[in-house]
Amino acid sequence: MVVIPSRKSLATHPEMVWVQRKRFVGWACSECAWEFNPSEIPAGNTLAEIRLNYELERDKKFASHVCAEHPSVQSKRGQQLK
Ligand SMILES: [Zn+2]
Repeated sequence: MVVIPSRKSLATHPEMVWVQRKRFVGWACSECAWEFNPSEIPAGNTLAEIRLNYELERDKKFASHVCAEHPSVQSKRGQQLK
């Protein structure tokens, strides 16, 4: 039998999270300071198309960003225990 290791045991991978800050509202990375800033209004004839293109670009940029290149300022505080 082959035991497949759980994917959860692999290194933590970042998640895309919705954030609302004073200077930025939108999608950001949970592990670094990366934020999704659409460079232009996505193409599309309908709201659904625009939204789809927006999400495609967002997912593409999120997948291609490198956390190490966007150091998070907040990480200085360390993790807080609850
Ligand atoms: Zn990141």
